[in-house]
Amino acid sequence: MNDIVKLHQVAKSYEKNGSHIQALQSMDLSVQKGDFTLVKGASGSGKTTLLLSIGGMLQPTSGEVHVLGKNIYALSDREKVKFRAHNVGFIFQMFHLIPYLHVRENILINNETTGIKVNENDLLKLTDELGISHRLDHRPSQLSAGEKQRVALARALIKKPEVILADEPTGNLDVENSQVVLQKLRSFCDEGGTVVMVSHDNYPDQYANKLVTIGQRAETVNL
Ligand code: ADP
Ligand code: MG
Repeated sequence: MNDIVKLHQVAKSYEKNGSHIQALQSMDLSVQKGDFTLVKGASGSGKTTLLLSIGGMLQPTSGEVHVLGKNIYALSDREKVKFRAHNVGFIFQMFHLIPYLHVRENILINNETTGIKVNENDLLKLTDELGISHRLDHRPSQLSAGEKQRVALARALIKKPEVILADEPTGNLDVENSQVVLQKLRSFCDEGGTVVMVSHDNYPDQYANKLVTIGQRAETVNL
């Protein structure tokens, strides 16, 4: 009933050069408010496909995706963009910052879509916590990988989304920066947020409270 994310029999196949790739098959998933759900699977097991499907960026071949009770693929493109901008934060392995914008503009990039004005104090407080407040007027190319991911995390957190979707967010980070990112995601959940993160590492297990494995057979375990 109160699921933040609900997948019902979601399947996705790709057709490439005449061959058929079944990236996801018959996936069911329920994510409740406050859950830190970690989805694990080998490379090629469909983790990115799953997250893009939840985020409304990749329509499944069959099945339904509900986010905050909305059947996301029943929304128009315009509604989907608005819905995402307000409710869903994303973090990617490769950061996906915009190279020609300063850190400050990267963090506030969603404001144009949401129309929400971020208070300067909130921006400074969040970037201080993440150790990047001195980087606000720099460009992404001037930052280390760890700093880039902390900027991406600030971009996701600043809009106070209901759910954060994270695709191998520690894949390019050292241990110290990985801990900062995972601890921040953990705190976000402790304060009532919800995270769905995919990874092929065992290391993030300790931060999650639900573990889902995908591949041959999807199953959910409470940690
Ligand atoms: P993971 O993130 O777990 O590595 P992906 O979701 O990226 O897995 O991919 C799952 C499978 O789907 C892989 O076999 C991959 O090669 C294939 N795949 C992913 N995206 C595409 C695409 N756009 N076109 C064709 N095949 C794809
Ligand atoms: Mg992937």
